[in-house]
Amino acid sequence: MGDEKTISLSVLGGGGEIGANCYQLGINGHGILLDSGTHPKKEGLGALPEYGILGKAPDVCLISHGHQDHCGSLPYLLRQFPAVRTFATIPTARIMDRMLHNSVAVMGLIAKERGVAEYPLYEHEDVNYAMRSVTGRPFNEPFPLPIEAEVEVSFLRAGHVLGGASVLIKTRGHNVLYTGDFCEVDQELLPGCETLGRDLHVDTLVIEATHGATDETAINPYAEECYRLGEAITPVLNNGGAVLLPSFALGRTQEVLNIVSRLQEEGMIPPVPVYASGLGRAVYELYDRFTDYLRDDADLRPLEQFHRIGNVWESAVVENLISKPCIIVATSGMMLRNTPSAMIAREMVRHTHHGIFFLGYLDPDTPGHALLHGRVGDRHFLALGKPGMECRLANIRRFSFSAHAHRKTLQQRIREIAPKNVVFVHGDADAIAWMRDNTNNDFRCFSPHIGQTISLEA
Ligand SMILES: [Zn+2]
Ligand SMILES: [Zn+2]
Repeated sequence: MGDEKTISLSVLGGGGEIGANCYQLGINGHGILLDSGTHPKKEGLGALPEYGILGKAPDVCLISHGHQDHCGSLPYLLRQFPAVRTFATIPTARIMDRMLHNSVAVMGLIAKERGVAEYPLYEHEDVNYAMRSVTGRPFNEPFPLPIEAEVEVSFLRAGHVLGGASVLIKTRGHNVLYTGDFCEVDQELLPGCETLGRDLHVDTLVIEATHGATDETAINPYAEECYRLGEAITPVLNNGGAVLLPSFALGRTQEVLNIVSRLQEEGMIPPVPVYASGLGRAVYELYDRFTDYLRDDADLRPLEQFHRIGNVWESAVVENLISKPCIIVATSGMMLRNTPSAMIAREMVRHTHHGIFFLGYLDPDTPGHALLHGRVGDRHFLALGKPGMECRLANIRRFSFSAHAHRKTLQQRIREIAPKNVVFVHGDADAIAWMRDNTNNDFRCFSPHIGQTISLEA
């Protein structure tokens, strides 16, 4: 049992895209799912992984971390296949609970506003059921899977966000390492990923390729970027303006609130009030609960230090908020329509003295991308069912606080782990193409597309 050298890998989502990550390993007749995400830009059933290609119920699902593109469809999966057992790190299990209940609310709103008949894809009770299927595990403590074949799993520290893990799956015949999203550098709060090498005896490495198409010299070092951000914020505040920092609820929000707070303590930016939006606050409580998972020297500020934003769907509330110098950290990071960051930006762009500073990658199809690359005088549609807003604001910039590995790190990790097979996932087509073209021929390289099943030899 568990000693076969050949395994299969099926891509249900995340092949050639940053989408609904979901991969099934076929090991000795057992199905082991890696992640069960939703596509951040798609809607309705189209946002799901291709669960239809599963011939039978998978046995287990291993979740790498709490971002939607990795766990957003877990309640849907469990509704289809109620017997699936799920494993995640202890913080990720708690994070998922908050993120997924929030998704139900968001899907409900979209259903109402736009009549997406398939929404919500799952209800609060489905989230509760899914959460009961999850066993939380600490990092670096191998555990056997509850299946007949002998398979042992370990969660390894991946950096990226609280609880973020790379997943090591060991059988007697074939070892697989799924990196999930990982980050090699220390962030303000989270330590970078652990170094992994040949001693893991990895046969197949399934590796994220987010930054495959990004020249690493174009990404400033983290510490430098903190100060660049400070230098951009100060003149806006001194000029009576407000600063908006659109951020992902999990990870970036907690990191940037603490960066801003430190820069204020250091006297680099004025001590104006700092605001944080709802889901980011809920996740912040978990950063506070799991301080053991943060950097040893992390100085996590108390959440009470950051003010609540209030009802951003009322323009009078936002007008009042931005009438005085302040810093606002709000979701979503790419400023999707009708999210707090979009609703606040909608009022800000009518004036010339504010600043909107994006903090990471912006997908070309998002309103945030259009705003960043647009010109003064362009009209932007940031709220559903409301007229577009003419942009008078020129001070819209982007900083790069990436929580993903640079492509040189991806290459280095492949060399150090020295697997037999490398499978590139979680990247746009050009990112994956660059990684394939620039990976040594010593490794068998794969870049399967969605719906494809490949066979892998140890
Ligand atoms: Zn992620
Ligand atoms: Zn991801």
